[in-house]
Amino acid sequence: MSEFDFDLFVIGAGSGGVRASRVAAAHGAKVAVAEEFRVGGTCVIRGCVPKKLLIYGAHFAEDLKDARRFGWNVPDCGFEWTTLRDNVLGEVDRLEGLYRNTLNSHKVEMIPERAVVTGPHSVKLASGREVTAKYILVATGAWPVMPDIEGAEHGITSNEVFHLDQCPKRIVIVGAGYIANEFAGIFHQFGSHVTIVNRSSTLLRGYDEQIRDRLLQISMTKGINFRFNAHMERIEKTDDGALCVHFKDGDPVSADVVLFATGRKPNVDGLGLDSAGVELDDRGAIKVDDYSRTSCESIYAVGDVTDRLQLTPVAIREGHAFADTVFGGNPRTVDYDCVPSAVFSHPPLAGVGMTEAQAKNKLGTVKVYTSDFRPMKYVLAGRDERALYKMIVDATTERVVGLHMIGPDAPEILQAAAIAVKAGLTKQDFDDTVALHPSMAEELVLLK
Ligand code: NDP
Repeated sequence: MSEFDFDLFVIGAGSGGVRASRVAAAHGAKVAVAEEFRVGGTCVIRGCVPKKLLIYGAHFAEDLKDARRFGWNVPDCGFEWTTLRDNVLGEVDRLEGLYRNTLNSHKVEMIPERAVVTGPHSVKLASGREVTAKYILVATGAWPVMPDIEGAEHGITSNEVFHLDQCPKRIVIVGAGYIANEFAGIFHQFGSHVTIVNRSSTLLRGYDEQIRDRLLQISMTKGINFRFNAHMERIEKTDDGALCVHFKDGDPVSADVVLFATGRKPNVDGLGLDSAGVELDDRGAIKVDDYSRTSCESIYAVGDVTDRLQLTPVAIREGHAFADTVFGGNPRTVDYDCVPSAVFSHPPLAGVGMTEAQAKNKLGTVKVYTSDFRPMKYVLAGRDERALYKMIVDATTERVVGLHMIGPDAPEILQAAAIAVKAGLTKQDFDDTVALHPSMAEELVLLK
């Protein structure tokens, strides 16, 4: 008989928490997972999944236009936000059910309550029940940051955007990162007047500059408005129910919805982590070692709450590695090198490895190969939008150290190409591969 109620108590049933629970249980551990909201976490409930479905929905706007050039008699089509919204939310419900089934079938006890750490081996549930566990895993994710300005309460975040009653005629999106650019594309395609407002002069910090510039140029050509170096002062709700965003300098902008996409912070508030001596870093993220162990021996943390790489597949790997390490007798760490990522903007962009600037800083001399082309489909559609693929090569070893793309299906193409970059292949290896013609992906083996 164990001295604890559970071998593992997981706080948070998102991507990392669910994977860790399921794998630990499969290794024979007695597992419970507490979740105060819905099973699936940000990715499934209010992030990647519903967002990607909206992206699919948004694509029809241009596809329907292009279809006429391909001979289809397309009548004037209207868009109904509520139909798409409800179908997307229905799909989210279905996926949540699948997650629940997975936990059930692995005999993980699900506790639909908030849990707070009360010591190295104990948690207290909202109902007052106290539970002990040999190990605790904190997988509470991250939460959107709202700027501290007057009237911020009139704005929404990505948590609420999937539930809007109607598609806004005008939307101001604050921030110019992942979420801002993705939703700018979505709402623009749905016919909204979109203005992106950012405090600095860049968008998508961290991505390759040329790729970012291409997104900016295409977005502006499409009609998305950008306001850089803009410092918001307050948001006013006017008598007609509209919102007016005031800036420290420059004219105010009116909108029906203001969406804050100004980053996400680790979800640690009120979690009781100090009761167990769990240390946080300067940004409030839980500090962990390579095995996701915190400064408290019996408490581990995975996913966005640790602020390593805020990406679902990374959290899943961390959760899996934790469970294998602690319960599977197979200590292993996550390899953060060459993690591909994508922004599902319109068009999407994707990248793996170093940007040109990073490679120059790190390696000194690099070779850069590009292909700047108009996709075949766009030529016939009369769409003047160019894709850009860019390869960064270490001039000494000839190894490909970075690959960056913007254009239709870039994330789909990059996932496969990322294997080659991760495997340390050279430009010559790409060139030795015969092109698959006609495709956009063939540009990867024809880069000059
Ligand atoms: P990002 O970190 O991508 O971008 C934040 C943006 O907000 C930046 O433009 C930043 O400006 C600006 N900003 C930050 N703080 C403030 C502030 N206090 N006031 C005004 N502006 C501010 O955050 P997101 O919210 O877009 O996304 C959060 C995370 O979620 C991402 O980092 C990513 O890891 C993950 N995510 C991943 C997706 C994917 O994989 N496709 C999709 C969506 C989210 P500046 O440029 O000056 O720094």
